[in-house]
Amino acid sequence: MNRIVAALIYLLAVAGFSGGVWWFALTSDLRALAQRGEADLSVASDRLVGQLQRFRELAVLLSDHPQLMALLEGRGNAAWASSLLRETADKTGSLEILVVAAGRQVLASSGSAAHGLSPAPYLQRALGGGALGTDHAVDPGTGIRAFTFAAPVFSAQGPVIGAVIVRANIGAIEAEWRGDAMMVAFTDEFGVVFSTNRSELLFRARNMPLTGQGAAAYPGVDVRAFPDVRPMALAGLEVWRLDAGRYVPRKAIHLTRPLPIIGMTGEALVDIAPATQLAGWQALGAAALGLVFGISVLVLLDRRRALAERLGLEAAANARLEKRVLERTSALSAANLALRREVDERIAAEVALKQAQSDLIQAGKLSALGQMSAGISHELNQPLMAISSFAENGAAFLERGRPEKAGETLHRISDMARRMGRIIRNLRAFARQEVQSVGPVDLGVVVEDVLELSQGRLKREGIALAWQPPAQPVIVRGGEVRLQQVVMNLVSNAADAMEGSKVRRLTVTILPGKPVVLRVADSGSGIAAPDRIFDPFYSTKEVGRSEGMGLGLSISYGIVHGFGGVIRGGNAPEGGAVFTVELDPFEQEDAA
Ligand code: ADP
Repeated sequence: MNRIVAALIYLLAVAGFSGGVWWFALTSDLRALAQRGEADLSVASDRLVGQLQRFRELAVLLSDHPQLMALLEGRGNAAWASSLLRETADKTGSLEILVVAAGRQVLASSGSAAHGLSPAPYLQRALGGGALGTDHAVDPGTGIRAFTFAAPVFSAQGPVIGAVIVRANIGAIEAEWRGDAMMVAFTDEFGVVFSTNRSELLFRARNMPLTGQGAAAYPGVDVRAFPDVRPMALAGLEVWRLDAGRYVPRKAIHLTRPLPIIGMTGEALVDIAPATQLAGWQALGAAALGLVFGISVLVLLDRRRALAERLGLEAAANARLEKRVLERTSALSAANLALRREVDERIAAEVALKQAQSDLIQAGKLSALGQMSAGISHELNQPLMAISSFAENGAAFLERGRPEKAGETLHRISDMARRMGRIIRNLRAFARQEVQSVGPVDLGVVVEDVLELSQGRLKREGIALAWQPPAQPVIVRGGEVRLQQVVMNLVSNAADAMEGSKVRRLTVTILPGKPVVLRVADSGSGIAAPDRIFDPFYSTKEVGRSEGMGLGLSISYGIVHGFGGVIRGGNAPEGGAVFTVELDPFEQEDAA
């Protein structure tokens, strides 16, 4: 709606603008036309006046001619004078040359008949006033328009004795400028067109009907009214609208120029069609320019609006996107923070767990040591007793003078001492807290050490041991002390389980391969609840006894898993429990 109103307003503005252009162009073009017309009119007027001037001067010149003067004074020869006049008329192109006496009788003539002249103002002026008389008239007989000059002829004494009359044929002069583009007319004092280059306007009078002198001036001529003229003022010029035939413009600038020398007024009609056409084209051009400008502005505005709309949409979409990204980012960072906190907590929990596990392992070891302490003291006591009896024997042999026997007993003593040292070393190693996590361990040596520590108990409780150390070292991934703890636990549990059995047999086997399998089987009571044996604090042993915390197998489980191995426990079909520990063999890549 707004756009339609704006377009209408703009169209009105364009119309106003092109109207202004039209008016400005028209007035300036009209003025230019008028100026050219003035110049043309002045040329045409000068031409007519100049042509007529020749005949005027001829009349004046002839008025001094001695032969003509003689004729007027009554001394001359009329025939001879007439021939002079004829010759002069022929040479100058005059219509007629006459010599008239003071009484208006024609004494000599370039024409044929000699006749009298009727009184007329111009004749009266020449003969009576002694001044140059002029006249224009139409010959009723021939219809020829003539312009007449009458020059007085003075006698030697002074008074006017006659006049020389020269008539010029206006039609002949007019013929020279008939083809001019601009209409030119010369009107006399009565407003009658006497000479023009448009024949349809000849003898047309502006103020009809003619009266008095005017009517008398054109006897026998059909003087008609001038075509109806509707004058108007345009750009300070007089513009005529008229309908006077094909060769007269319908709208024209009317120009006038007084010509007092010949007593007429020069008039011109300059067609304004070129000016109106040009102004029309200029106005049209201005309108087209305005429309093109308006359309361009409209298109530009449309484009700008479309662009702005698109930009607006894009900006909104961008803002939405940015908002969502922001929301997601903040949600993500919150989640990230929570996750990191959780990770930290887990790490802390893991550290705590590791600590607790290592504490447990240590506690387990100490508990095992406690269990073993009776056996160990027995273990150490036995060689100690043997040493003291060997020492007594040795002393007796020396007294008896048998030094070779004494040396033998000394050897035995040193063997015993070495064995005690080994047991103590094993105990110290067992009690040690292992620092290194995983490395190559000879499983055979581990089993040997444990069996050595347990040897005393097994013997005391009458347990038969079936153990064949492997021919080659079986190296597994693990930690020596922790593996000892696992094996010690299995051996102790087996011994515990066989306490009430008649047949007491412990079988320990190492099966090399991938994985390496350690198998510990007993002939005891068997496992009561195989599903629960690895649970912490699960124990079937009497509460209050030193053994029976229910932690041994669960600690062993943790240790074996820590090495990447597996520990299983179950009952054998022939009775008794079987425990297997599977461990990865230590390979070169592990060392790398
Ligand atoms: P504890 O020896 O202090 O009871 P363990 O974790 O070492 O704790 O053993 C848990 C339980 O598993 C024992 O109480 C016992 O019931 C059972 N168990 C372990 N080894 C054997 C075995 N060789 N024969 C039968 N039962 C066993």
